[in-house]
Amino acid sequence: MLNIIPNFDLQPSNTLAVPVRGRYAAEVHSVEQLQDLLQWHRKECVNTNSLPLLVLGGGSNVVLQGDFPGLVLLMKMSGIEQVAEDDSHVWIKAGAGEVWHRLVEYCMQFHCWGIENLALIPGSVGAAPIQNIGAYGVELKDIFAELTAVDIRSGVEVVFQKNACEFGYRDSVFKHRLRNRYIITSVTLKLSKEPTCNLSYPALAACFSADQSPTPLSIFSSVCDIRRSKLPDPAQIPNVGSFFKNPVVAAATYQQLLALNPSMPAFQTDQAQVKLAAGWLIEQAGWKGVELGGVVVHMAQALVLTNPQRLSGAAVLALAAKIVADVQTKFGVMLEMEPCVYGEVTH
Ligand code: FAD
Ligand code: NAP
Repeated sequence: MLNIIPNFDLQPSNTLAVPVRGRYAAEVHSVEQLQDLLQWHRKECVNTNSLPLLVLGGGSNVVLQGDFPGLVLLMKMSGIEQVAEDDSHVWIKAGAGEVWHRLVEYCMQFHCWGIENLALIPGSVGAAPIQNIGAYGVELKDIFAELTAVDIRSGVEVVFQKNACEFGYRDSVFKHRLRNRYIITSVTLKLSKEPTCNLSYPALAACFSADQSPTPLSIFSSVCDIRRSKLPDPAQIPNVGSFFKNPVVAAATYQQLLALNPSMPAFQTDQAQVKLAAGWLIEQAGWKGVELGGVVVHMAQALVLTNPQRLSGAAVLALAAKIVADVQTKFGVMLEMEPCVYGEVTH
């Protein structure tokens, strides 16, 4: 039996707490249920000419700019299990609807290492490959083995190995060539049995003194501590984390910017390109702490926009557009939004 709910309140399902509704919504607890829902959706598309589809995990990386005029699938597939091991590694498989941080905690409990720098990232396991989540010097791709996904058109479940996901900086094939084509149902990680410590990120390394030997567990708790101190908890102050990606520019462009802004932080990605800190650009442009139409540039991190009054997605996007235009004028750098935008524009 399909439980499709009409006129569904999506405010609790997005961490910006934007008050919008979905025309239909259904929870997805298994692959079979997903296939049935997709079949219903295909029939409904024929009947109504079109019915858009939106897949939601924790809703922590979306901006809903208006009511969603189609079917919202709320991913709830659960389960975490070890599926293989060899002398040095374990393979852990998790359902797409599992909370990402619960998976990190599971790995810590069973001493599966390599994931600890990615502690406390909000959202679901199934969304993690979409933008190749990353933090504190580690990205999902570093520990990723494979995923399963259901083809929206055919309903068939397929496996994607790492190369097929085309992971990049906060990016994957699912944001481009295969956008709106697959629904991720599970993710399998390859984790190390040997403790490996990645302290490449200066803010994390600073948590350990020279005579302290870091362990994956101490890295896990340090990452949790830094994040709790710096980032607003969406349950208290609605937000979607970083609102913009760090812009990656040509080395020559970076040199020109550096000449004009000698204190500008930047990170070499390869010989030809340099990653700039979007938060720094926004702060220098004078936006830190600024409130516009009830939406606020977070005081502790200018990359985060907060929506304390639970206003519309349009209000959030209006502030974002002003920031983009101003940074473009002041630095000649175009900021790109990180969260995906959905829903009908309302006036
Ligand atoms: P949603 O917001 O529900 O969805 C995001 C996108 O993925 C949408 O396009 C959706 O349609 C699609 N999607 C979701 N599930 C599936 C699925 N099963 N199959 C196919 N498509 C799917 N991100 C980082 O990378 N690093 C960070 O350190 C980080 N810190 C954050 C801190 C805060 C306080 C917040 C609020 C956000 C942060 N984020 C960070 C962003 C966000 O947590 C991640 O992008 C996360 O992976 C989103 O998961 P979600 O389940 O909430 O995705
Ligand atoms: P931060 O330490 O203030 O650093 C600002 C920016 O500089 C980060 O965005 C980071 O890029 C970059 N950076 C710093 N040191 C770097 C290094 N050694 N090599 C390459 N890049 C470096 O950042 P923060 O806001 O507190 O966030 C800490 C970590 O959590 C970052 O990795 C950030 O991406 C992640 N985070 C992400 C989100 C999100 O929604 N996407 C939200 C909160 C935090 P990177 O972003 O590439 O790491």
